[in-house]
Amino acid sequence: MELDKMDENDWKYHGEGNKSLVVSHVQHPRVLRLLKYPAEDSENPPQTAEQAYRQIQNIVDFSSNVMSSLLGEKFIHSGEVVKLPLEFVRQLSIKVQHQRPWRCDKVMDIYSGCALCLPNLTSPALHQPTHTPPLCIEIKPKCGFLPSPKHVSKDIKTKVCRYCMHQHYKQVANGKWKRRSFYCPLDLFSNRQRMHFAIKHLIEEPQNNFKVFKGGQCIYSSKEGSDESPDMNSLLHHLRPYFLHANNRINSHVTSKAVLNDFIQVSRGLPSDSVLFRILQTQMLDTLDIEGLYPLYRQVEQHLQDFPKETRLQIEGPYNEAFLEKLQKCPAEDDGSVEYAVAKVHQYRVAMTAKDCSIMVALVPSSEEEFSYSASILDLDPKPFDSIPRQLRLDQKIVTCYLRTGGALP
Ligand code: ATP
Ligand code: MG
Ligand code: MG
Repeated sequence: MELDKMDENDWKYHGEGNKSLVVSHVQHPRVLRLLKYPAEDSENPPQTAEQAYRQIQNIVDFSSNVMSSLLGEKFIHSGEVVKLPLEFVRQLSIKVQHQRPWRCDKVMDIYSGCALCLPNLTSPALHQPTHTPPLCIEIKPKCGFLPSPKHVSKDIKTKVCRYCMHQHYKQVANGKWKRRSFYCPLDLFSNRQRMHFAIKHLIEEPQNNFKVFKGGQCIYSSKEGSDESPDMNSLLHHLRPYFLHANNRINSHVTSKAVLNDFIQVSRGLPSDSVLFRILQTQMLDTLDIEGLYPLYRQVEQHLQDFPKETRLQIEGPYNEAFLEKLQKCPAEDDGSVEYAVAKVHQYRVAMTAKDCSIMVALVPSSEEEFSYSASILDLDPKPFDSIPRQLRLDQKIVTCYLRTGGALP
């Protein structure tokens, strides 16, 4: 990529989350991931260009030095920070603004010129004997286990998973999604049959947990705040050519149900070398639940107030091997030391990242009935230390709402 010859016409809107906006190159399998700011800050960037650069470098370091060693190097592409010409970024922001389907309460950062350059995981360069474009499934699985009763104040937390309670909360309390998803992460992280069940529910109601790409283009996803369901017929139309050999045919016509079934079955690409297993293991570094962790967070916070010059604890990085070592060599018991508290906080933050990442499974037809698979994990940003109190409050709100309304919808 020649940074001095950047042209906004070579890039197009690809997707976005809460923190970043992604554009993809129209020819090369590459994306740029740019930061987003709240729209009210658009005239007044909340951080300097140096701070933005540092933030993205931290993301790269966290992904490559910490998450990749926990999740498995072969799934992770950490990318590199690039410094783009400001004029290019401004033109790009104008170009993509009207293509953005949602989340316009935030705007793309046009001030720092910094971005993360990554391979485009939706158009992987797998061995391609056919000319069929790759199919790509993105799943944001969320937390796949229940906390231990030892650390939680409400019994319900050990019975109903956090995602399911959060779904309920989003519907009851803030109407963010008009329809409820019956996806449950505990299913996805379970046996084959329950995994298929989970994927069926993700297809029915993708929200922001499921997307399908074909040849690098998103062809199936939910629209936030919309009460329409995504277009299943259009998905089937796209999928049909990939599943012409589906088992259930009527007069040599492959039924929609068969296409969908075969599509669900391709999720066998998911546990390849246990991507899911590695993600779950990393999520489970949250051993104390937010309730058990919070007092340790306070202890660290107090320590930082007492010793403001202390950087040895690496709270805001650097995310290097020493950071990884701190969380891996955590004492088994709470000995009251700040080292123990910090190690648990580090573990919790790593677990939060693993609860928020996405899996991208690319499928390329390799013969008439076979696919070759490649799986990667993306969105591995470090979660800020000071987001922990917010996590506790959100947890309390979600659980209270669930208990108040008995898990039933009004
Ligand atoms: P979240 O709100 O989930 O934290 P985020 O703001 O951190 O999201 P990402 O999840 O990294 O942003 O990116 C947003 C979307 O862009 C992803 O869900 C995915 O569809 C797409 N995307 C991100 N990185 C890549 C990549 N390397 N290749 C292809 N698509 C990507
Ligand atoms: Mg994401
Ligand atoms: Mg993210």
